[in-house]
Amino acid sequence: MIAFSELKDFATPPTNEGDTYPIFNPHTREQITEIKESINEEMEVAIEKAAVAFETMKRLTSAERSDILEKASSIIADQKETFAKTITLESGKPIRFALGEVDRTVQTLKFAAIEAKKMEGESIRLDAAPGGAGRDAYTIYQPIGVVGAITPFNFPLNLVSHKVGPALAAGNTIIVKPAEKTPLSSMLLAEAFTDAGLPEDAFQVITGDGPRLGKVMIDHPAVAKITFTGSPKVGELIKSQVGLKKITLELGNNSALYIDESVKDRLDEIAEKAAVGAFSYNGQVCISTQRIYVHESIKDEFLNHFKKAAEALTYGDPFDAATDMSGLIDEKSQERVLQWIDEAVEGGATLITGGSKQENGVTPTILTNVDADAKLSCEEVFGPVVIVNGVPDAEEGLKQMNASTYGLNAGVFTYHLPQAFRFAHELEVGQVLINDIPTLRFDHMPYGGLKSSGYGYEGIKYAIKEMVHMKFISMNHA
Ligand code: NAD
Repeated sequence: MIAFSELKDFATPPTNEGDTYPIFNPHTREQITEIKESINEEMEVAIEKAAVAFETMKRLTSAERSDILEKASSIIADQKETFAKTITLESGKPIRFALGEVDRTVQTLKFAAIEAKKMEGESIRLDAAPGGAGRDAYTIYQPIGVVGAITPFNFPLNLVSHKVGPALAAGNTIIVKPAEKTPLSSMLLAEAFTDAGLPEDAFQVITGDGPRLGKVMIDHPAVAKITFTGSPKVGELIKSQVGLKKITLELGNNSALYIDESVKDRLDEIAEKAAVGAFSYNGQVCISTQRIYVHESIKDEFLNHFKKAAEALTYGDPFDAATDMSGLIDEKSQERVLQWIDEAVEGGATLITGGSKQENGVTPTILTNVDADAKLSCEEVFGPVVIVNGVPDAEEGLKQMNASTYGLNAGVFTYHLPQAFRFAHELEVGQVLINDIPTLRFDHMPYGGLKSSGYGYEGIKYAIKEMVHMKFISMNHA
């Protein structure tokens, strides 16, 4: 197992002045290092410095901002191994997926570099309204100031970049309060931006307790916007505290997939994809495939393939390139996941495979005939568990998929074109993936949830729109 000290040649050693708290390797549950438990005043000072840095940032040209983002992206690409190992160490994410997260981060920041140059307004024909003649009118986008970002543990680099990239592309400054358990990747990211020539204090990371430091950030008058990714419970609380500030919330889901009988010749391939969607990073992904509704006529065959795919996954050291699954983020999560499985079985569900503890993880688990009221059907499990229920037709499949308080991503496998269009139009989610699993996101696509899954959008271009003011200007030349 690699030690954090071996990565320190690139990372700024954690500041150990004042109070600290331990960071654990989730796979072994051993302590990796200690991190600063920042006090409220440190958050306030960081915000004040970010407000001063905004005066510098807003004077940079879009080309200069784009250049910094491009350079930061290249630095991360050059240090890919270090970034990936840091992600693996603090989150327990198997190294293959951590390397994939670094690749995505490189892309995320490249897209931000492109979009920095494209923040274009439009001209408005005021003479289309009575009395409007004699004026030229147009809109411009202007940065809003200091953005406050609060981020989750599961993608500690790329999801931070989804906030930092758009904020800087727009000419804002940003403070990140990373998840308590996974702050190291965001610290490396900040270092990459310093090396890329970002003005001092334009991007700062403040580590420590979420509720306490988050509240300081939310309440501070110099913070113009809060962008949060995390659980619906915390998102809802933040929304109730934020007042008139701008806000974006990227929250949870219990992603559903429908498979109809028209694709029966592809069930082995679909089962492989669904296993990736359900069990990658132990299901600790906001769009993890959690509910599968499959046409009754192909259910048994699909389950055979799916069980085989799940049982082929390897559990072990996340630094081993062959490892598919490892320990869950903490003991509490492990216990909760196992309890929800037990409750479903007690409620009449049949366990197809898994359902047990595996060191600090949970075996990949498939259940069928799960009650619609079971927690596994209704809530976000955030673990390696998937339910596969048979449905008599697409009508019932659609109904079951929409019977959720969440609405982020959904997937449908069908060769039946009218059916594909019907699902696309009637699924109550932000993103519909036809002939793909719901566990799919490209970093430049619009991405946001309906219902309890969120408020507002990410995906670089769309996130920028939520981090700027649109100003209307009219020139009367009559
Ligand atoms: P979490 O809600 O527990 O924590 C997220 C962040 O909020 C952390 O930085 C934490 O310190 C902070 N926080 C906690 N309480 C707070 C409070 N009262 N005020 C301000 N900040 C507070 O989430 P998590 O366990 O880190 O991440 C898992 C959740 O994130 C899942 O629900 C998952 O679906 C969701 N998620 C959503 C997306 C998306 O894009 N929609 C992506 C990844 C994760």
